Amino acid sequence: MITRRNLLKRLSALPLIGGLVGSGIPLSGSFAETLPEAVAKRDVLKELGVRTFINAAGTYTAMTASLMPKEVMDTIVTSSQRFAMLDEVQDKVGAKIAELCHAEAATVTAGCWSAMVLGLAGVLTGTDRKKISQLPNLERMKNEVIVQKSHNVGYVHALTNTGVTIIPVETVADVEKAINSRTAMMWFLNYQAPDGQIQHEEWVALGKKHNIPTMIDMAADVPPVENLWKYNDMGFDLVCVSGGKAMKGPQSAGILMGRKDLIEAARLSAPPRGGTIGRGMKVNKEEILGMYVALEMYIKKDHAKEWKSWEDKVFHISETAKKAGNITTDVTVPPIANHTPYLQIEWDKSYFNITRQQLQEKLRAGNPSIEVMGSTDNSISITVFMLNPGEEKIVAKRILEELNAAKV
Ligand SMILES: *Cc1c(COP(=O)(O)O)cnc(C)c1O
Repeated sequence: MITRRNLLKRLSALPLIGGLVGSGIPLSGSFAETLPEAVAKRDVLKELGVRTFINAAGTYTAMTASLMPKEVMDTIVTSSQRFAMLDEVQDKVGAKIAELCHAEAATVTAGCWSAMVLGLAGVLTGTDRKKISQLPNLERMKNEVIVQKSHNVGYVHALTNTGVTIIPVETVADVEKAINSRTAMMWFLNYQAPDGQIQHEEWVALGKKHNIPTMIDMAADVPPVENLWKYNDMGFDLVCVSGGKAMKGPQSAGILMGRKDLIEAARLSAPPRGGTIGRGMKVNKEEILGMYVALEMYIKKDHAKEWKSWEDKVFHISETAKKAGNITTDVTVPPIANHTPYLQIEWDKSYFNITRQQLQEKLRAGNPSIEVMGSTDNSISITVFMLNPGEEKIVAKRILEELNAAKV
């Protein structure tokens, strides 16, 4: 039997506790049994042979978007050990989120997409139980949603899920002409704002003039953090945002916030209630609470400091890659959506015998595996906001290695 003291001595003699587990040294007998829980934890991703990777690409849904901070995970683990009434958790978390984001009310949804379905369901049905159970059959209900043509992209499927028809418009005159007794809502897609003729304030004003609720999808549009309350302050009746992108909440969580009567109505289509269009959009209490903690942490963090750290990481990767020679780098920041520095690394095709896809494949096949993006044939694109501390060094080193190896 190994005493705790001896065990600690043995462990401290090792370079890293993580190194022990990763080293392949078999842990057995009393030694394994006395190991601290954190060391002996089962790694199911590893067990199943699931490839894990350094995410230098961004908050892509397919790449599982973001990693939750420890405080969020602690909230999930701790709350998982007790029962609570699902509605009470939503009531209390919703009140806190509403306060943080200057909204009358809020509720945690199964992502931004589900916020749109439930929000529109609330607009269509109000608190009428018969209408709620009837969706997506819109008999006795309004059935049109006005959307600017440039905003009419794939995400509107969240709206048409309720049975409505999208009415595309371009100008204010189009909106005035399109509005009729069947108009249920006016929807705005924030990241497409620059491509539309009608901007936020005017959209809200048109809605108010005709007494039609307005909804904005700002799924990936923090940073800047102010966007979390900007559109509530502006007068949008409903605001939808993703929880698992830059906010680093649970990937399958999001927030619907806005007018109290509409949030109450939306919740009537959401679990625990069944026989509704939203029954499959359940969020468990752990994720509701985790979402709240992630939001609170996100609002409280030092955003200027975080931005500076992103710039430092981008600079490090850029300078390292340039050592290969005949490399040009460029840093851009999308004005809306995933508003974070993007580093483009471009190589001169006459000096390097590698395509973007081949470089992506080499980085993916390396150890550790790395995911990067790219659009042209001789460049890759990198974001650093999903990197764990220190990973920028690994990314920089691997890119330089592969570029050097590809020299003609
Ligand atoms: C990601 C995204 C969504 C979907 O959000 P989820 O949180 O994944 O449900 C909707 N709209 C836009 C613009 C998005 O970027």
